[in-house]
Amino acid sequence: MKYDVIVVGGGPAGILAAIGAKRDNVNVLLIEKNKKLGKKILISGGGRCNFSNISNVDKIISNIPGNGKFLYSIFNQFSNFDLINFFEEELGIRAKVEDYGRVFPDSDDARTIVEALKKYLMNIGVQIMYESTVKEVLTEKNKIIGVQLNDNRIIEAKAVVLAVGGISYPGTGSTGDGYIIAEKLGHKINDLFPSSVPLNSDEKIIREKLLQGISLRDVELSLYDLKGKRIITEVGDMIFTHFGISGPVVFRISRYVSLTQRKLGNVPLKVVIDLFPSKNDQQLFNIIAELINENPNKIIANGLNRLLPEKLIKVILQKLNINQKKMKELHKKDINKLTYILKNFSIQVTGTRSLSEAIVTGGGVNIKEVNPKTLESKLVEGLYFAGELLDIDGYTGGYNIQAAFSSGYVAGKSVGFYSLKQ
Ligand SMILES: Cc1cc2nc3c(=O)[nH]c(=O)nc-3n(C[C@H](O)[C@H](O)[C@H](O)COP(=O)(O)OP(=O)(O)OC[C@H]3O[C@@H](n4cnc5c(N)ncnc54)[C@H](O)[C@@H]3O)c2cc1C
Repeated sequence: MKYDVIVVGGGPAGILAAIGAKRDNVNVLLIEKNKKLGKKILISGGGRCNFSNISNVDKIISNIPGNGKFLYSIFNQFSNFDLINFFEEELGIRAKVEDYGRVFPDSDDARTIVEALKKYLMNIGVQIMYESTVKEVLTEKNKIIGVQLNDNRIIEAKAVVLAVGGISYPGTGSTGDGYIIAEKLGHKINDLFPSSVPLNSDEKIIREKLLQGISLRDVELSLYDLKGKRIITEVGDMIFTHFGISGPVVFRISRYVSLTQRKLGNVPLKVVIDLFPSKNDQQLFNIIAELINENPNKIIANGLNRLLPEKLIKVILQKLNINQKKMKELHKKDINKLTYILKNFSIQVTGTRSLSEAIVTGGGVNIKEVNPKTLESKLVEGLYFAGELLDIDGYTGGYNIQAAFSSGYVAGKSVGFYSLKQ
């Protein structure tokens, strides 16, 4: 049998591509290598799936630093609000909005999304082939004719959407197959790098696990190179781990660690943490002075614990060589030193965790070779791309899955229309 459209990959991009293509009532085959769809959706957002963000398009794009602008036309055709409405009206999934505009299903369970999407695919007549891995997309005279599976079976089709994801968290099925397939078809693959990933540090305080488990809210992180040039500053939450630092704001600066080290070699970089970005030095000085007045006889680590976790205060006092025991023994120069370090707590990072541990794979299929309105390849007729396989990477906050869903839907609509004309 010859299909109108084959979609390769049953993640958010592939699922929405199959749905988009089916709008033209063409016959669609979705091929997924796993036993089930959406394995990455299931682990996303801590199992709750932060599937979108309610910001406007400009803000969404500014949160996709890796080629977000390429998605303008895509989001105009299928926006975050279109996705939220589709979920609510056609899948029966109500959305709830949390901090930073992040959108989750109100069930707080990613399975709700995968199950509803699977049911929807079956209702609209998309055929799904599980446990089948595509190894090659076949062409004749630079035009799609089908795909070949790992077991060498060939399935014919007029057009193909490649939506096989990146190479991060390979246990979910995204093992980088798409880069090999696309490269074979003549597409350039831009260098892959870990994006939204924790950072390693071999500082003594990390090696000795003095701060492990301490989480900080709304801190400001600035990344500097060794010459002291500031690369990026971001605000958000973070946590100290046994190997370094992690959490949303660390993820935001991590792609710049990847990119800087790509440029400068694997040199260590400096992260400066402003623990109180909403207070200036004077305000912070006054707060500490007030705490001293209120609790003159308290041990310093206890006296300041309204400001910060005790473990962190102890590390700071050690760094500053402040050996006084009681709050009242802190002098003006100590308070100044404390104020300074609270706004400039620095930690050296050696690099990122590996690509397989990254939330997103940076790099990928070069977007210059893809039509930004239809997502059709400019090199091979009838070949379309969607999702993380493209050289697009966003911050955490719902931007990546939204980009996958939107690009999937648009690629699907375009491929459906294309296949009708063949
Ligand atoms: C731990 C974690 C948490 C995350 N949380 C969030 C979040 O809350 N919000 C957010 O916006 N983003 C999140 N992300 C990122 C987001 O999940 C991905 O960007 C998104 O899933 C990409 O969608 P995709 O469809 O392009 O690829 P994928 O979701 O990777 O799907 C690709 C599919 O293709 C299949 N496949 C691969 N190769 C083949 C082949 N050769 N033949 C057939 N099938 C194949 C795979 O098995 C897979 O099912 C998270 C990522 C991780 C790792």
